[in-house]
Amino acid sequence: MTATVTQDGYGWDIGPLLLEGFAPGDKARLILEELGVSERVPSVHEDRGLSMPEFSLWRPKEYEGPYWRRERLKELFPQESAHLDRYYRFYDRMIRLMSLARQAEPARGLAALWFKLRMLLAFQGVKDKVKWSGGQLMDHYFDSPVLKTFFLGIVADFVTAPSEFPGLGVPSIHLETAFDKRIPTYPGTKSAQTAYTYILGGCQSLVNAVMGVTLANGGKVLTGMAVKRIVLEGGRATGVELADGRIEPADRVLASGGMKEVFFGLVGRESLPAELITQIESNRLMESVLMVQLGIDFDPTPYQPAALCYYYKTQDLEGAVRRLRTGDYHEGKDGFLIYVPSLHSPSLAPAGKHAVTIYTVAPDTLAEGTWSGRKEELADKLVAAAEAHIPGLRARTQTRLVLTPEDYRQRTAQKHHSFGGVPPVMGNKPPAHKTPIKDLWFIGAQSESTGGVLNVMTGAQKVAKRILTDE
Ligand SMILES: Cc1cc2nc3c(=O)[nH]c(=O)nc-3n(C[C@H](O)[C@H](O)[C@H](O)COP(=O)(O)OP(=O)(O)OC[C@H]3O[C@@H](n4cnc5c(N)ncnc54)[C@H](O)[C@@H]3O)c2cc1C
Repeated sequence: MTATVTQDGYGWDIGPLLLEGFAPGDKARLILEELGVSERVPSVHEDRGLSMPEFSLWRPKEYEGPYWRRERLKELFPQESAHLDRYYRFYDRMIRLMSLARQAEPARGLAALWFKLRMLLAFQGVKDKVKWSGGQLMDHYFDSPVLKTFFLGIVADFVTAPSEFPGLGVPSIHLETAFDKRIPTYPGTKSAQTAYTYILGGCQSLVNAVMGVTLANGGKVLTGMAVKRIVLEGGRATGVELADGRIEPADRVLASGGMKEVFFGLVGRESLPAELITQIESNRLMESVLMVQLGIDFDPTPYQPAALCYYYKTQDLEGAVRRLRTGDYHEGKDGFLIYVPSLHSPSLAPAGKHAVTIYTVAPDTLAEGTWSGRKEELADKLVAAAEAHIPGLRARTQTRLVLTPEDYRQRTAQKHHSFGGVPPVMGNKPPAHKTPIKDLWFIGAQSESTGGVLNVMTGAQKVAKRILTDE
């Protein structure tokens, strides 16, 4: 998913946009340093906008401190002033707890015990909400459905209903630092309020850098070559069989991809314990995305001042998720995002022009028609919806590239494309990295690491360390 595609002199990422973990001293950056390729993956600390039918919030010109959005919301919703204060007190408590958890990660012995005690104390302040869903949490703090959507709307992007999302997780998916890069961040602050960055030149530089390490160390990369079977001998993974029937022997197999595709398709149910089969079948997955890449010949910043903005269009998040899961595509009416990567990476567009990505969550399989049959029609509708915010998108399009769920399915070798891996649905339990089959490890967005670039990277790093220490 971290690929950058090109057409007619423009370039666009097909997946991740604003990433956590890549600022100096943060987790993904440290992994790149450990691999010796950090300088090949330059990134820039940024923030994004948030737009709703009722109002839009963009970072103010002059920095107004870490709580400027709270104060702006009080002006917009004076009757909810006290509620906003209460929510932000909860937010601060959760950030404190998350920050302690982060600092505790490398601690050992007495230091670890000390952190545990402090976390236990911090937990007392939020303990009463531990079983709440995101929806309950929002109902507790706010009356206005607009405010509830403001803080929680991103869950619909994860194809997770408010009633399915853990309430204590709400601050982590709506960090203030995502909306103003001037708010002090980790690691300087030791706070869990992380910095968000764009990978300059597109996420492909991440792939190239890491692939470079593999090649420089005598590794070989085969692309366009599906694995059709993981070879087992005596209950142990001993290699993979490729689509052309070739067998590649291996000391260990690290499989990434869909959990069902890997375990049921490549390994086979007959070789798996019944509990693992039930566990895999019990997980809910995300749906896919419809992405329209445009090359335009004008500067969109008068209409969208930040490179990225999420446009929320519905307050019925429960209904939106339910509809997505039944193949009922919203055609942009529930929301979408617009991203202009060439603002931070001019190499992604010819001089004076811009690369624009418009995408929205979309059902893996349409209830009516097929993605290939309706590709252009649904892309047109999405661009029309985006044009309400950036006029001129259609008339001034120089080139267009549409990616449907069918394209994503094919790229990822998934039968059902889940765009961010395992969603944060309460009760979901993705398969562990260590599988019941000796020498077979499961990594990637549908493993216990869960999705997102940082999670996938740190998960893979943990597996590498466990293999090296023979754990
Ligand atoms: C539109 C979009 C936006 C996103 N936004 C963000 C974001 O803002 N921030 C963020 O952190 N994350 C984001 N993500 C999610 C993130 O990109 C993914 O969770 C993560 O990159 C997944 O990495 P992975 O290695 O698990 O999977 P992938 O990148 O899918 O890699 C798995 C690879 O395995 C290959 N494969 C699978 N099965 C086989 C087989 N049988 N034989 C051969 N090869 C096989 C696939 O072809 C694929 O190349 C986004 C994703 C999408 C699609």
